[in-house]
Amino acid sequence: MRPGDRFRPEDPALEQLDRLSDGWGCRLRADDPQHQLAVGIARDLRAAGFELHDCAAHAPTGGVCLTPSSSPPASYAGVIVTWTQHDVLAHAGDLFGVHSDVQEVMNYALADVLAILGWRVEQFGQASAHIVTGPRERTLDAEQEAER
Ligand SMILES: [Zn+2]
Repeated sequence: MRPGDRFRPEDPALEQLDRLSDGWGCRLRADDPQHQLAVGIARDLRAAGFELHDCAAHAPTGGVCLTPSSSPPASYAGVIVTWTQHDVLAHAGDLFGVHSDVQEVMNYALADVLAILGWRVEQFGQASAHIVTGPRERTLDAEQEAER
């Protein structure tokens, strides 16, 4: 069982799952090829205590951006994970060094947390973004161990 599967259906943490977007400014549809993966990652991140960013609404408050990616090559199919800072930092030209440092630290922290939570995480692009391509494969032994 994944950490995010432990929520009771009425848990307020799950309300933020409505924030998932398709990366093009619209809500993520259930028939999106990456929907199930994005929801699984989002639930686990909520379990770890992270806020999800409301990308489609351009919310000023920041949080984790989950952007589904289906574009070829196939190795880029997955969910891109990036941190977004509150607008007070994102748009503060005088704090550029702070903004870029926070961005890098949080992007790597997210990648580490997702790896700990059992997701397969890879670097994505030239900056500090990462892509999750699925659950990390577990050996049969580890699976049986987990069910004990
Ligand atoms: Zn966002």
